[in-house]
Amino acid sequence: MDFGVVYTQEQELFRKEVRAWLEDNVPEEMKVPYDEANYTSEMHEFWKQKQNELGKKGWLFSTYKEEDGGGGLSPDHRSVIEEEFREYRAMRPITSTYTVDVLSVWANDDQKDKFLRPLLQGEKFEHMRMTEPHSGADLADYRGKAVRDGDDWILNGENVFISAHGDEDFFPGPMHTDENAPRHRNLGYFVVPNPSPGLEVREMDLLPGRRQKHITMTNVRIPGDHLIGGETQGWQVHGTHLEAEHGGGGSSLGRDELIDNLTTYVQEKNTDGAESVDSVKQNTTVDAYLESHVDSMLGKRAYWRYQAGLGNTYEGNVHNVHNRVGGLRNSVRVRDVMGPYALLNADDERAPHGGMEEVDQRSSAGQRHAGGSTNIAKVILARRIGISRTKERPAPTPKG
Ligand SMILES: Cc1cc2nc3c(=O)[nH]c(=O)nc-3n(C[C@H](O)[C@H](O)[C@H](O)COP(=O)(O)OP(=O)(O)OC[C@H]3O[C@@H](n4cnc5c(N)ncnc54)[C@H](O)[C@@H]3O)c2cc1C
Repeated sequence: MDFGVVYTQEQELFRKEVRAWLEDNVPEEMKVPYDEANYTSEMHEFWKQKQNELGKKGWLFSTYKEEDGGGGLSPDHRSVIEEEFREYRAMRPITSTYTVDVLSVWANDDQKDKFLRPLLQGEKFEHMRMTEPHSGADLADYRGKAVRDGDDWILNGENVFISAHGDEDFFPGPMHTDENAPRHRNLGYFVVPNPSPGLEVREMDLLPGRRQKHITMTNVRIPGDHLIGGETQGWQVHGTHLEAEHGGGGSSLGRDELIDNLTTYVQEKNTDGAESVDSVKQNTTVDAYLESHVDSMLGKRAYWRYQAGLGNTYEGNVHNVHNRVGGLRNSVRVRDVMGPYALLNADDERAPHGGMEEVDQRSSAGQRHAGGSTNIAKVILARRIGISRTKERPAPTPKG
């Protein structure tokens, strides 16, 4: 039985078209580096421009509705685009699909024109703003406040670990709107324009060398139409974001470059004979290979269910938890097989595969904390499969 995805002739022709676009448009020096610390401002300006071109072609948010500014293409076309862009080390949308999902479901027509269309078209960019300094795991416990002032809102609060470039046009996220309302009924969801008087974006210098930001809002005034949904409906609105971030949309990507490279590394060691790999390392590589394949299948199952409109009640969460714990296990396996070579960075010519292993070793544990942490992903899965005191139903998504 073959579980691989089979593409039609038309889709394979589309693949050629995507590949040709990449070859014509992406010079070697603009390919996205493994280490985000090496992502330059020239690259960023280049990719912002390209995202605008891709938006016009319908390849940026390819499966979102054409009437909203998306590409209106099929999920298989999207898979082809994702695969080819990943292979070519080309940038996928700077704007996250999570926010695009929120606006697709909850924004009114005027707000869609103002916020959603320019994001889908790559004319504007955003980054979500959720975690506050006191806690990110208990996300409903917001401290940042939004207070009405005539038709406007005045915002005060701060967010940390925001993986933004800093020059995004919007920072959307929930804020406290009613001190007397019960938990989950006391938030509004606001799109904060950047720049705004009173909004400050600062760099956080963290180990993975990523682009984490600290955002502070001091009496930031925003117009009333920047509130998405009702003024105490923010938790429900944000639920659409969390549904996607916790795995609800699945993943169509088949290839796991880290584990493909590990397999090739072992094959080459065995072929040249001088340094053949012992049976323990072979065994470890097989475990990594299996883990990676299981993860890919779980991701594709959730992707297919989501795109087919069947809905994911727990399937996306299974993939999310597996991806987090399996990915970490595989980082350890890569280190066990490659030894100190896995710790050589891109500057060292002995580093295998341009130093991608070193980047993974440095960032994989931290990555498991993003999006609410692995513990929280497990809490949510427990609720979805009915083994927790609390029950949780999926939030609305653009697919229903
Ligand atoms: C690489 C990276 C990128 C990020 N990008 C963004 C971003 O773009 N935007 C954004 O808003 N945030 C971002 N974050 C922040 C991230 O969402 C938070 O780190 C995460 O939600 C956890 O919050 P915290 O760090 O405040 O940990 P805390 O909330 O202080 O939790 C500490 C520990 O306690 C555990 N814990 C807490 N409550 C429970 C519970 N009920 N059951 C079991 N365990 C529990 C947590 O799992 C965690 O291990 C990013 C973080 C990282 C590391």
